[in-house]
Amino acid sequence: METLTYDVAVVGGGNAAFCAAVAAREHGASVAMFERAPKDEAGGNTSFTAGAMRVVYDGVEDIQQLVPDLTEEELATTDFGTYTEDEFFDDMARVTNYRTDSDMCETLIRKSRETLRWMKDKGIRFACIYGRQAFKVDGRFKFWGGLVVESWGGGPGLIEGWTKIAKREGIDILYNACATKLIHDDDGVHGVLVRKEGKTVEVRAKAVILCAGGFQANAEWRARYLGPGWDLAKVRGTRFNTGDGIRMALEIGAMSYGNWSGSHAVGWERYSPEFGDLTVGDNFQKHSYPWGIMLNADGKRFVDEGADFRNYTYAKYGAVILNQPQQFAWQIFDSKVQHLLRDEYRIRQVTKAAANTLEELVGKLEEVNADQALKTITEYNAAVIKDVPFNPNVKDGRGTVGLDIPKSNWANTIEDPPFEAYAVTCGLTFTFGGLKISEDGQVVDNEAMPIPGLYAAGELIGGLFYFNYPGGTGLTAGSVFGRIAGSSAGAETAGG
Ligand SMILES: Cc1cc2nc3c(=O)[nH]c(=O)nc-3n(C[C@H](O)[C@H](O)[C@H](O)COP(=O)(O)OP(=O)(O)OC[C@H]3O[C@@H](n4cnc5c(N)ncnc54)[C@H](O)[C@@H]3O)c2cc1C
Repeated sequence: METLTYDVAVVGGGNAAFCAAVAAREHGASVAMFERAPKDEAGGNTSFTAGAMRVVYDGVEDIQQLVPDLTEEELATTDFGTYTEDEFFDDMARVTNYRTDSDMCETLIRKSRETLRWMKDKGIRFACIYGRQAFKVDGRFKFWGGLVVESWGGGPGLIEGWTKIAKREGIDILYNACATKLIHDDDGVHGVLVRKEGKTVEVRAKAVILCAGGFQANAEWRARYLGPGWDLAKVRGTRFNTGDGIRMALEIGAMSYGNWSGSHAVGWERYSPEFGDLTVGDNFQKHSYPWGIMLNADGKRFVDEGADFRNYTYAKYGAVILNQPQQFAWQIFDSKVQHLLRDEYRIRQVTKAAANTLEELVGKLEEVNADQALKTITEYNAAVIKDVPFNPNVKDGRGTVGLDIPKSNWANTIEDPPFEAYAVTCGLTFTFGGLKISEDGQVVDNEAMPIPGLYAAGELIGGLFYFNYPGGTGLTAGSVFGRIAGSSAGAETAGG
């Protein structure tokens, strides 16, 4: 059997893995990354993202540190506001029903700004998310929902950037290299077995950092842990995150932690492929539902589409759609709001119905009770509070009265033709359950003791997210905890 030797072996090739590898290398450790995917599918879920990252900022100066090339005109016409540590805490606490692990949450928030600056110093470029996160009202853009920056070139740009940096820093990246088992004894972890081109390679390392993602691409685990019906969910991202990192650690006695029946799941093109398609990226998602309404097969609304900014509802509404009859819904918009629809509605791969009358539209909604759909839209239109002005940049309080399921904000009538409808199902992003880590990123065992030589970061750590998730936190969490794990492992192992 071939044997390779490094100070630090990182399992995975997404954002968390790169942060861990680069941070370990800073300490002088010899580092290799083992990526299960072939090179053209590498980068995990990170490659599928638009690269949006939630970060604390106290004003435009903090944004300029990350995005130094903002133009004078952009600065003059944009209200960036602030996103303070307190606001980030409030968002994490509220959306997780106060279940987020407070220590981990504090680390995430307090280190978000310095970690993105560290990424920038390493050579990662950022841009501001005009369009998706700020609308132009009266000549000015206003950012909302705590989300302002994204990596240049989205997820693919982030992976490309990290790959160049890793090469520059002398980190080896092995593709088609699937980690299968930890090398472990009473003294801890001493490496990992990797299957490469049909052969097992023994990787001897003083520390292993697991960054192999959640278990969302594993249909059996989905049904087992998320529950019945979840085996049928579409997977939005990589087909390679099948829970291997979690499994390998549990096999040697690691503690399981977090919301194992919970996940991040969104409204997603109904007839999308089983896994993500890198040529489409995140564009199968359909996130403009706050401007319209959603109907299920019974022709009924089933959720408050305007309960909050989409950043705080989209990640839990996939599960709500999964629980509808036949696991689908139609999103409906009239001409008043169509200019606000995100770019993802303008791709070729959509299931769309369009009509000039509501009667015609409901007849075109495949597998929907058309009579009930028309009744629902008529009742909804009558319930809209029309004397409150519509404003997509704030929670405008333009709601409905008297409906069993209210719409709390952005309630516009559906009455101005042409009408458009888009069919969605549940698209699963990543799972919330995973491993428990210590403050320095070490995986802990069932006795709550750190396992010597074993670290973890990214999707596969549990404890941060329960029930829901504030948009843009996955990449930031991977960066913060990846850097911590890499730093600890690098400091522990280098030259020793
Ligand atoms: C469509 C989509 C859009 C998203 N948009 C955003 C966004 O805009 N902002 C945001 O913050 N988050 C977003 N997310 C979530 C985000 O992608 C994740 O939170 C983040 O990328 C997780 O990083 P990670 O490094 O932990 O996992 P990943 O990037 O998934 O990396 C896991 C890696 O492990 C590898 N791997 C798996 N098993 C093995 C094994 N046995 N051996 C070796 N390697 C293995 C995989 O191939 C992969 O390279 C989005 C996700 C999707 C799917």
